[in-house]
Amino acid sequence: MVTLKDPTLLRSDCLIDGKWVTAPERTSPVTDPATGRVVGLVPDLGAAEAEAAIAAAARALPAWSARTARDRGAILRRWFDLVVANADDLAALMTAEQGKPLAEAKGEALYAASFLEWFAEEAKRIYGETIPAPTTDKRLLVIRQPVGVCAAITPWNFPAAMITRKAAPALAAGCTMIVKPAEQTPLTALALAVLAERAGVPAGVFQVITGDARAIGGVLTGSDVVRKLSFTGSTEVGRILMSQCAPTIKKLSLELGGNAPFIVFDDADLDAAIEGALASKYRNAGQTCVCANRLYIQSGIYDAFAARLAEAVRAMKLGQGTEPGVTIGPLIDSAAVEKVESHVADALAHGATLLIGGRQPPAGGNFYEPTILTGVTRKMKVAREETFGPVAPLFRFETEEEVIAMANDTEFGLAAYFYTENVRRVWRVAEALEYGMVGHNTGLISNEVAPFGGIKQSGLGREGSRHGIEEYLEIKYLCSSIG
Ligand code: ADP
Repeated sequence: MVTLKDPTLLRSDCLIDGKWVTAPERTSPVTDPATGRVVGLVPDLGAAEAEAAIAAAARALPAWSARTARDRGAILRRWFDLVVANADDLAALMTAEQGKPLAEAKGEALYAASFLEWFAEEAKRIYGETIPAPTTDKRLLVIRQPVGVCAAITPWNFPAAMITRKAAPALAAGCTMIVKPAEQTPLTALALAVLAERAGVPAGVFQVITGDARAIGGVLTGSDVVRKLSFTGSTEVGRILMSQCAPTIKKLSLELGGNAPFIVFDDADLDAAIEGALASKYRNAGQTCVCANRLYIQSGIYDAFAARLAEAVRAMKLGQGTEPGVTIGPLIDSAAVEKVESHVADALAHGATLLIGGRQPPAGGNFYEPTILTGVTRKMKVAREETFGPVAPLFRFETEEEVIAMANDTEFGLAAYFYTENVRRVWRVAEALEYGMVGHNTGLISNEVAPFGGIKQSGLGREGSRHGIEEYLEIKYLCSSIG
């Protein structure tokens, strides 16, 4: 079990219509990926409970959307304060069910909180417009209104932040939201629901339902009461959900897979590039959709970069997230380890060289050593697929033109990174990369004030920033005749 300062944050029931719902005969265990131990039990709910949640969200909508923005903002602000005050417990829950090191988990709790604070403020800035009319007898206005009942389906890699990044703008806009968290990480979601309730979020405005993903997802996507789905997860599941939303023409925000290039030019600041590569590649054990997946290093700096990265990786500490000094935790499950193994084996079979790592530590479990592969080519799986693990494949390149072509040669377009000290190149490369987000001389780009999202098959819409709230608003045009 997890030890919390406030044990009431560990729930084994779901929040539906302001009530904590259990299903004594139907529960699913939540396990610690580092040890395999059961850390909690959550209800295994399905279609009927999803229907009930939709009905409650619809009932709660008129009163919630009628409140002033200031009022909704004040409640979100209280939720923010509570998430910050309980960051240690949220971190403990995340480390227990997801595996990330405690310091990283605490960082996520605060990152998750930042969306609540940001959108508490943005609620007050949902501006309309007046438009000069084409004739003297008309007055034209634009108002922005909440989309209505929204659903969110969230992943396990950021158990807290992927929820607040959706729920905060939804609630700020006046929408109500039902969250179906990933089956691996429901405990953090339920703790967030406890804090939402304590902050004064009314019954039905924010609900969390755990259980059968397909059954719940089917009801949420099929309902014509639900007007929007926000999903973060794999491109395959995103495609399925998008098609399920087609009959009701639902609004969609999709944050899907990435295959991020990380480009280091000969003229880069090597120290900065190593620091960025470590953060972007090995954070969350390589399990983020913006993690560097392909590292392109220019010939002149290739050997020096590889040697320095290996030295830095050697200093990393792999282990249980609760152990002091651990910088890299386990992967989420054995399937994730198998995928990483298959990518490394495929690269080695096609002529890559293992510089460091490349195996599971003898203790077993879902751990995989931070790994570096050199001599990597386009033929290998690591060039095309998202590895979602702690493997850095180093590709060698000669020219800027060549590396831009390789970097863009993917159906994904989420995040890209490049390192150069040449200011002309900064603009050329930043504009040429076909990605929704580009980091120059940094491996860390995510924050609440900037628009997060991808192009191509990495998704639709943006989260965070002033753009994030637009996803939860409809535009209404009012044409008034005074003639
Ligand atoms: P990952 O591969 O990272 O686990 P997924 O895309 O499979 O990502 O899962 C992300 C979220 O989508 C999770 O909450 C999961 O339960 C949910 N999910 C997966 N398949 C479906 C489905 N067919 N219908 C609805 N939700 C789904």
